[in-house]
Amino acid sequence: MAEESEAEKVKKGICPLCGAKLVFQEGCKTCPACGWSACSMG
Ligand SMILES: [Zn+2]
Repeated sequence: MAEESEAEKVKKGICPLCGAKLVFQEGCKTCPACGWSACSMG
């Protein structure tokens, strides 16, 4: 089993929702493809 957790994907710069590359924007990792953002983690 090599299933990656959401946090592992984010660490690698991959969107946990759609698999696109995350970009670093305003201090947070954000997905330009689907709008997911790590900022919501608090
Ligand atoms: Zn995405």
